[in-house]
Amino acid sequence: MTKVESHLDYSTPLRMRYAPSPTGQTHVGGVRTALFNYLLARRTGGAFVLRVEDTDESRYRPESEATMMRDLRWFGLSWDEGPDAGGPYGPYRQSARHDIYDKYARQLLQNNQAYWCYCTPEELEADREAQRARGIQAPRYSGRCRNLSAQESAALQTEGRPKSLRFIVPPGETTVHDLIKGEPHFDHHQIGDFVIVKSTGGPTYNFAAAVDDALMNIDVVLRGDEHLSNTPVQLMLLRALGLREPLYAHVPLILNEDQSKLSKRHNTVGVDEYRKEGVLASALLNHLVLLGWSPGDEREDFTLDELSKMFSLERVHKSAAVYNAARLRAFNQRELRKLPREELSKMLASAMQENGLLENPAPDAAIHWIDTFLDAYGEELHTIADAIPIVKSLRDEAIVIPAIELERLRSREVLFFLDSVSQYVASLSELRGLPLNKTIPAIGEEFGLKKKMRIMQCAWRSQVRKVARR
Ligand code: GLU
Repeated sequence: MTKVESHLDYSTPLRMRYAPSPTGQTHVGGVRTALFNYLLARRTGGAFVLRVEDTDESRYRPESEATMMRDLRWFGLSWDEGPDAGGPYGPYRQSARHDIYDKYARQLLQNNQAYWCYCTPEELEADREAQRARGIQAPRYSGRCRNLSAQESAALQTEGRPKSLRFIVPPGETTVHDLIKGEPHFDHHQIGDFVIVKSTGGPTYNFAAAVDDALMNIDVVLRGDEHLSNTPVQLMLLRALGLREPLYAHVPLILNEDQSKLSKRHNTVGVDEYRKEGVLASALLNHLVLLGWSPGDEREDFTLDELSKMFSLERVHKSAAVYNAARLRAFNQRELRKLPREELSKMLASAMQENGLLENPAPDAAIHWIDTFLDAYGEELHTIADAIPIVKSLRDEAIVIPAIELERLRSREVLFFLDSVSQYVASLSELRGLPLNKTIPAIGEEFGLKKKMRIMQCAWRSQVRKVARR
């Protein structure tokens, strides 16, 4: 691919990659990165590559790789190459690529672009401390082992010290050509000789990622903002190794409403938690795509296919996006309303079953009840999980509604009644002290509905709650 400074050539198939480290639950920020990569791959008829970055042995959680794949599939983000799918540039799990990293590490060592470092963690910490004391805010490696003689190295090795391989940062600066950020410069003076092979023998993230992006022929490395400072480091490695350089695109962060980095202290961040809260993949996807990208008009409702035709980096914002929980709930309500009733009923039934509110399989009477419930509440729900507390407050009386009553509930008079109750309750500004338990059945009586009042509670309670919340 030819290098384009400010915009991409969307007529050329792009090889894009999502490279998660499976260290825990799938974070929505990661999903947004995966989504943007997927969309560019699909828009250009290129390839979406899934690469598992499992080189940090202490943080790797094998089960989270399967969870991450399940979560991507839930959103419909299918990959063309990956650990399970295979592909021409495998293996796609970094732990299976050690011989490749070893080869490039040897090359750097032989070309005097890297050296063995025997510093202990205590020595490194003491160096950093001394630099901080001198007012250096971002301490860097002192270079102590850069010029060790062969005898000195041998002596340190005999002491049994662990060794790591450091890259020799050349003088000068690196300019990153970033499709979103422009051209930030990085002065090498600020960057100490960095580790590329850890004392465990494994590659560091920067080393493995740089080598893999080149060998996997990745055209654009699109990832979160927090990796921008890794980019000069990765570019230095690629240049030293004579490997192909990708283009870069760093997507602005997602922030909590108080401008701090999106975190679980303020918002739900795990995909699994969203699913448990009853959020639909389509709502979350629309929400995520609009965090950092805009279609250029007011539209907020897209399918993955539509996005795959229209997504472009030019419309990715340069500044951070603020997470908007209310918008997600509104989107989810919209998506719930689009669902066929049968599907909604099934979702509610299974949410009730998960909460121990319904037997499995559900008896016919309960299916009818769910239908009635959805008539009364369906439009109001922002998530299926919203229904659970309401169901809880109603279930004792409601689940045993005889079929004949259910038929009556569907009558026009009931609708009028509910409407009147809604209007009556909504017109109240203060509930305390009002004899609602008497007033509402009295309205019911006016409509000749006395007998059905027990069932009616299901509908008017929500109105009462709304007023109470005001
Ligand atoms: N494994 C890194 C992460 O999960 C990926 C960074 C990158 O895309 O280069 O943050």
